[in-house]
Amino acid sequence: MSPLDQRARDFEAACNGVDVVIVGGGITGAGAARDAVMRGLKVAIVEQGDWASGTSSKSSKLVHGGLRYLENMQFGLVMEGTRERYRQSKLNPHLVTPLPFLMPVYKDGRHSLFKINLGLWLYDLLSLFRTPRMHRRLNANKTRTQVPELRDTRLSGSVLYYDCATDDARLVLANVLDARRHGAFAFARAAYRGPTTAPRDGHERVTGARVFDHLTQREVVIPCRHIVHATGPWTDQTGAMLGEAARLRPTKGVHIVVARERLPIDVAVAMSSIDDGRVVFAIPFGNTAYIGTTDTDYDGEPDAAMATAEDVRYLLATANHFFPQQALVPDDVTSTWAGLRPLIRTDAATAYKTSREHEVYRDPRGLTTIAGGKLTTYRAMAEELVDDVLADLKAEAKRLGQPAPKLARCTTHKVPVDPGAVDVPQHITGAGDQRDRLLWRTHGGAADLVRKRLRSHPAEDAPIVPDLPYVVAQAAVATLHEDTWGLEDLLVRRLQVFYRSADAGLSAAPAMAKLMAGLLGYDDAWIAAEVDHYRAYVAAHLAGAQSFKTAPGVTRSMAAPSPAHAAG
Ligand code: FAD
Repeated sequence: MSPLDQRARDFEAACNGVDVVIVGGGITGAGAARDAVMRGLKVAIVEQGDWASGTSSKSSKLVHGGLRYLENMQFGLVMEGTRERYRQSKLNPHLVTPLPFLMPVYKDGRHSLFKINLGLWLYDLLSLFRTPRMHRRLNANKTRTQVPELRDTRLSGSVLYYDCATDDARLVLANVLDARRHGAFAFARAAYRGPTTAPRDGHERVTGARVFDHLTQREVVIPCRHIVHATGPWTDQTGAMLGEAARLRPTKGVHIVVARERLPIDVAVAMSSIDDGRVVFAIPFGNTAYIGTTDTDYDGEPDAAMATAEDVRYLLATANHFFPQQALVPDDVTSTWAGLRPLIRTDAATAYKTSREHEVYRDPRGLTTIAGGKLTTYRAMAEELVDDVLADLKAEAKRLGQPAPKLARCTTHKVPVDPGAVDVPQHITGAGDQRDRLLWRTHGGAADLVRKRLRSHPAEDAPIVPDLPYVVAQAAVATLHEDTWGLEDLLVRRLQVFYRSADAGLSAAPAMAKLMAGLLGYDDAWIAAEVDHYRAYVAAHLAGAQSFKTAPGVTRSMAAPSPAHAAG
């Protein structure tokens, strides 16, 4: 059955009614949908764009305990983060992998090497020593050997510690696909337009969710007993549909990408911004490295958040301070992304200090809103959220004199999101076969589908772009089996061509759109529109670096370290 036919059939079945409609296909909604369906609820999840097209594909791509929370004495957050890091790396080893971090310490820095080392002992302790590896203290010479390009002047040494890296968009997709495997209906490109409600035994209750299907341009009502808003930076928009006041204080975080040869690092490096002392990471990313992030208040439309010239300047200035010989310039920036942190309003003085903890709000009509949190802790957030939804459904059943629903306990802490991706042979998980390893890391259990496709379509064993190992068969499998409805979905979130290729995938766009159109049954007009959309997407994401180069009064040298900083 074609993906479009399958979708039409699923919509028809969902319109017979479910228990819960979850709005928002970021990590929060995807994790909640999976947990809810695994407990026995009937679930539909709707996402207005592509899965993870909001904040959840624009993170720093780390599953981490949050070392910097130690400074604010938020030990509970560190313990929760490191516990979830451990679980995810065990359950989803293709998606969550250990990443070494080097934190250089300078004689004129804010903290001594002794104090930083002590902090890392605490970090390892709070993880109950369930860390990929214990941290190590390095003297200046060993630090130079580890990262030769690092600024040397007044270097005391460093600490080498471990967190995990992830493919954030794929982590979301894996949750969605597993929710579907367990029986959930999952619709990307389907926008929620508000609840339907009706009085029930004297109380106003949710009766359904109005959903607009962008692919068929049709609005339907999915009947349900409960709705969850997990809309991240859009929380205030979906809340306004219920007449709720604004809750968020969104902040924008930008990352920029440069070729690895321009920033040759084998470990992530934790730098302290020369502007405001915030921690900024430089992270190796295949044949590239990315630098981020910023943290500034943002009050525009969530979709419009982009890297500005000032964001690019801020990040390059810090990178150039720590890697003075590299002298990175805006021309080196090959890609960017900007995400919004759906942070809860507090009276914290600066954006950087605003709380990362999540909040759950209950509306007695059968609506729950969840906002805030972290990618790392999504599983625990989902567990808490689904407990709440169940409590509401049970209370409502009792009020109506109906039997309480019998549902299973949460099991997400022990069940992998992609059962086909665990227990794979050592030659795949280790450093052996590069092709098999890439397919496993990218597609998890669906790597077998790619191998099958390569056997039946040998011509698709050709690179999508010359500088990356992705092959055309992967694009075909993504289109047929991974809910990929547009060229941007494919090149940005299914395969990381946009981030990792020197031309951001522009040269591959027409051929990939044609391949997708053939598989989905679309025409030439669709191909032209998708290619145009993708070109505009790339241009918008590089506009910050471009305007940096051309803006009056902004010169390349502003990104370079000032003599004072370079002197250390
Ligand atoms: P989102 O991912 O934004 O998902 C909400 C979704 O709702 C969107 O896809 C949107 O399209 C959809 N939606 C909105 N309205 C509707 C509607 N009407 N109908 C249907 N769908 C709708 N956390 C970590 O653990 N590690 C990190 O390294 C990390 N780095 C970060 C770096 C940055 C720069 C930022 C901004 C955040 C970072 N975080 C990190 C935090 C983490 O990324 C977020 O907390 C998390 O992704 C939020 O997920 P979400 O699902 O709540 O929101």
